[in-house]
Amino acid sequence: GAERTKNVLILMSDTGGGHRASAEAIKDAFRLEFGDEYRVFVKDVWKEYTGWPLNNMERSYKFMVKHVQLWKVAFHSTSPRWIHSVYLAAIAAYYAKEVEAGLMEYKPDIIISVHPLMQHIPLWVLKWQGLQKKVIFVTVITDLNTCHPTWFHPGVNRCYCPSQEVAKRALVDGLEESQIRVFGLPIRPSFARAVISKDQLRKELEMDPELPAVLLMGGGEGMGPVKETARALGESLFDKELGKPIGQLIVICGRNKNLVSTLESDEWNIPVKVRGFETQMEKWMGSCDCIITKAGPGTIAEALIRGLPIILNDYIPGQEKGNVPYVVDNGAGVFTRSPKETARIVAEWFSTKPDELKRMSENALKLAQPEAVFDIVKDIHDLACQRGPLANIPYMLTSSFTSII
Ligand code: UDP
Repeated sequence: GAERTKNVLILMSDTGGGHRASAEAIKDAFRLEFGDEYRVFVKDVWKEYTGWPLNNMERSYKFMVKHVQLWKVAFHSTSPRWIHSVYLAAIAAYYAKEVEAGLMEYKPDIIISVHPLMQHIPLWVLKWQGLQKKVIFVTVITDLNTCHPTWFHPGVNRCYCPSQEVAKRALVDGLEESQIRVFGLPIRPSFARAVISKDQLRKELEMDPELPAVLLMGGGEGMGPVKETARALGESLFDKELGKPIGQLIVICGRNKNLVSTLESDEWNIPVKVRGFETQMEKWMGSCDCIITKAGPGTIAEALIRGLPIILNDYIPGQEKGNVPYVVDNGAGVFTRSPKETARIVAEWFSTKPDELKRMSENALKLAQPEAVFDIVKDIHDLACQRGPLANIPYMLTSSFTSII
C-alpha cells in the first residue's frame, strides 16, 4: 500500500528575514518535488513553547543588531564551545518539558534546523526520547561564510553548508566529511523557476520601461544606511545638464515602517518607488539592473541568481562579515559604507561604465546556485529512504522524561 505521509518539522526563528525565507524555500521545494509524500511544518518552537530568554530571541536580536557593539560582543563571547554548550544546556534543562512537548506535537520523522541555536536542545530532546536513531535531524546553514559555531553539532545526520568556506569550518569543528554536503544557500523556488522577462515585469510593476533601475534594500528589517543612500541616489541619478534622470530607484524597506513614511514624504527628481515588505522579491529583482543591500545572505544569494551586481553597504558583525569578501573577491560587487560613494558608483554604471556592470552581472550568475534548495530536499529524501519505512516512531508521553534532568 501507499506509504504514509512523513512529517517534516523545520525549526526557525524570525531573527532576521533570512531564516524564515530559507525555511519557506525548503517547504516549497518539498511540495514541488514530492507532493503529498511529506507534510511540512515551519515552527518557531522557542517562541511558542518556552519562556525568557528563548521566546524573546527575536526581540533581543533586533535590539542587539541595532546596537552593533552589543551584538559583536554576544557573537564572539559565545563562540567557544564550552561557553555556548553550558549556556544552552542550562536553558535546555529549564525548558526541557515545554520544548519536548513542542517538538513532539508534530511527530516529526525529519527535523530540519535552519537556525544556529536549534541544534543542541532538539538533539538532546531526541536523545531523551530514545529517538536519535529514528528521527532524521539535519542542519541547513544560512550564513555564507563566517558562521557561529553553534551551527555545527556532531550529532546531526547531515549538515548542509552553503559554501566551501563553511564546509571547512564544519570539518574544523569536528563534523565528519560524510555528514557534510555543499549545495548552496536554499532560496525560494520562485527565484529558480521564474522566467518572466524584464520588460514584462516592469509593465506589471508600473516601472519606467527604459531607464536602468537600482534596487535598494536592507534585509527583512530595512537596516543599514537606506535613507541616506536613497537621497544620494536621488541626486546622482539626475543629470543636471540635460535636466532628466539617467536611472530609476526602487526602495524596499521590509518591515521598517518609519523608513517607508520618511521616504514617501520626500520629493524626487527621478522615478522612485518606495515599498514596505514585499512578498515577490523575485519580481523586483528581475526588473532591476543592480542592487544595494546590507550583506544579508538571503538577499545576496537571490541577487546572484538574478545576475544583479551588488553594492554592499553594511553588514551585521559576526555572521555577515564574511559575506563581503564572498561577493567582492568573486567580482560580483563592491563594498562601501558611504552613501555618496554608492550613489556615484551606480551613476557610473548607468552612464560611462556599463561594461563593468555587465562583467559583474556575469560573475554574479557564475556564483548563483538556484538548484541548491532542490538538491537539499532530494538528499533529505534519500536519507529518509535509507531509513526504510518510518512508520511507528514511538512518540511517548512527555512527562516521564523530565525526571531525568
Ligand atoms: N525580504 C522579503 N521582502 C522584503 C524584504 C526582504 O521577502 O520586503 C526577504 C529577502 O528577499 C531575503 C530575506 O527577506 O530572502 C532577507 O534575508 P537576508 O539574509 O538578506 O537578511 P536578514 O533580514 O535575514 O538580516
